[in-house]
Amino acid sequence: MNRNALNFSGGPGVLPATVLAQTQQAIAEVPEVGLSVLGISHRSDWFAEVVAETERNIAQLLHLPANYAVLLLQGGATLQFSMIPMLLLRQRQCVADYVRSGYWSSKSIPPAQLEGAVRILWDGELNGFRNLPKAAELSYSKDAAYLHYVSNETVEGIQFHELIGDDAVARVCDMSSDMLSRPFDASRFALIYAHAQKNLGPAGVTLVIIRRELLEQAPNNLPEMLDYRAHLAAHSIYNTPPVLAIYVTLLVTRWLLHDIGGLAQMDALNRIKAAMLYAVIDEHAEMYCGHAAREHRSLMNVVFTLPTFELERDFLQQAAEYGFSGLKGHRSLGGIRASIYNAMTNEAVAALCQFMVDFARRI
Ligand code: PMP
Repeated sequence: MNRNALNFSGGPGVLPATVLAQTQQAIAEVPEVGLSVLGISHRSDWFAEVVAETERNIAQLLHLPANYAVLLLQGGATLQFSMIPMLLLRQRQCVADYVRSGYWSSKSIPPAQLEGAVRILWDGELNGFRNLPKAAELSYSKDAAYLHYVSNETVEGIQFHELIGDDAVARVCDMSSDMLSRPFDASRFALIYAHAQKNLGPAGVTLVIIRRELLEQAPNNLPEMLDYRAHLAAHSIYNTPPVLAIYVTLLVTRWLLHDIGGLAQMDALNRIKAAMLYAVIDEHAEMYCGHAAREHRSLMNVVFTLPTFELERDFLQQAAEYGFSGLKGHRSLGGIRASIYNAMTNEAVAALCQFMVDFARRI
């Protein structure tokens, strides 16, 4: 199998083979323009339509109501950790509620504390970030400015499989590692964000979906570049955007719509892949130990350990010889992480499963 197909990296990660082929073509020459995508002006009509179609495709995939705006921004998901409290918490007397469920939600908290009061609604650290709160378990404050959580903790491989929060409080969600991997009701969220480099495309562009009414409460002391209103008014071309990254994201949305057939179909495929890997982990408990509590297992990032550091080292070395890449766990957690984003094929997951079974038998 092609090595790109065996890329289990946590991100930037695997992209569909057809998208890579079209990108290669576009780097040589975008057929309808006759120029390399790397040299096409962001002020061209062609690029304005690339942005518009990307936004339309995302709105279609998510059945977005008309009062939501789709923005394509820079600065990664990390910049959203600041832009969100700057918009929703600055100059306000209320608190923002944060669920601290793993590495990335922990990173989102200090920037918010610079803008106002933060309440940690739930903290999973004592349990080693292996599980998540149930919706009914959380006591929400109705006067909070917003509730922030991460739908899929990429490092620990834990994922919410139900909606949390209260409709009376603006829900804000970092969906960086499971955006467009499954259907969900976007109308229950005030703001959703996701960088591209997992399921949407290459690094460099970050998707923000925002309920327009939220912008009415923007404070008046925001730098323009950090003000969603400026990006909305400029149709995501406020300054020079990452033209290539946005173009590839467009190709991925077309793939999702036309080749896969939408998010319900994508979800069904993703569930099969995750079930295959978790079955190997469960059937070979003497060798593999899953990190996540069963009910919060991620469909995107399958995180597990082996009994010893030496076995993990041998596992990674033999996996690399076979052609697999990106399997080393996040530097903060260690172990193994198999990221099986949308573009990861069934065949590649089956090959990894076979490798894992053989490895367990050999030892
Ligand atoms: N949130 C989540 C859930 C992530 O997985 C990551 C990175 N993998 C980030 C935020 C940070 O994203 P970026 O590097 O684009 O700033």
